Amino acid sequence: MSAGDAAQRSSTRQHRLVIETRRLTKRYGTRAAVDDVDLHVAEGARYGFLGPNGSGKTTMVRMLLGLVYATRGEIEVLGRPVPARVAEVLPEIGAMVEGPAAYPHLSGRTNLGLLDASGPRRDRDGRRRRDRVEEVLDRVGLGAVDRRPVRTYSLGMRQRLGLAGALLDRPRLLILDEPTNGLDPHGIREVRDLLIELNAAGTTVFLSSHLLAEIEALCTDVGVVDRGRLVLEDALDAVRGPTGRLLVRTPDPEAAVRVLGRAVAERDGETLVVDATTGGPPAPARHLVERGVPLDGLAEQRRSLEDVVVALTGPGSDSARTPAGGLRR
Ligand code: ATP
Repeated sequence: MSAGDAAQRSSTRQHRLVIETRRLTKRYGTRAAVDDVDLHVAEGARYGFLGPNGSGKTTMVRMLLGLVYATRGEIEVLGRPVPARVAEVLPEIGAMVEGPAAYPHLSGRTNLGLLDASGPRRDRDGRRRRDRVEEVLDRVGLGAVDRRPVRTYSLGMRQRLGLAGALLDRPRLLILDEPTNGLDPHGIREVRDLLIELNAAGTTVFLSSHLLAEIEALCTDVGVVDRGRLVLEDALDAVRGPTGRLLVRTPDPEAAVRVLGRAVAERDGETLVVDATTGGPPAPARHLVERGVPLDGLAEQRRSLEDVVVALTGPGSDSARTPAGGLRR
């Protein structure tokens, strides 16, 4: 089954697509930065576009926004062809690509004011515009920022300012290229919470990242790109399917190991990974309880996104990259 088929099978079937590409390709000389990609982003999704450095994420984002022209293939965003009718969809999109653009000698507030005044949905009421700027600054955690110029901002502050700019028009769709780049763990969590909140209020979120953990913690759907090609696209829940093993937590792991024998595949402190297919009783949890071994917790083990990505991309593709180019947890 192709990545595209998998996507049709999952969440996209019930929802309208807000981004769809068909056989999308961008070549620079002989090199394909994006190679024959069929992308499906359903309305209401938090879609993570995951890939190592240089795999084509930014090129894809730029094509979706009409900033770079495709060599071949088709793009539809919010039901309209891009780039032909991109001007019609831009007012409904909040975007941040390759770090935020801002006038370095002006304050963040002034930058947002200018952006708002020149924006496609310009509000004629100056007071409402100012309130809107304050509101988005607050949302990204820059509410208390003073009048210092943007050139003195840290990378994290610039990133937040870029996000604030993307939120100004209350977009229906957010397209963000590496939105947590340069943020500390606290900032990453704040941005994650903000995106979840916006998504709950109806905004579809499409973001690129090379951080597996970020996608795993934030997204409902994932597309994995490897050297320009989409190697996986599916709902995260489906990707992280059950492994067939059980996670058993017990305050008496020694007793549990004695009772379950060869069925214990791994042990990590008080947690045992139990694989009933390798011997031992067919219903290990019941077996433990019946023999008086106390249980603190029982869960199905699920595959991690990392396991799936590593299996798909394989060691061969990793070894061709620079150490900085790999996917990061
Ligand atoms: P990163 O995570 O580092 O931002 P990325 O996944 O966003 O990487 P892209 O920036 O889209 O990757 O680059 C994909 C490939 O296309 C890379 O090999 C890059 O060198 C090449 N590329 C991108 N833009 C150009 C350009 N304007 N001219 C030539 N090659 C380019």
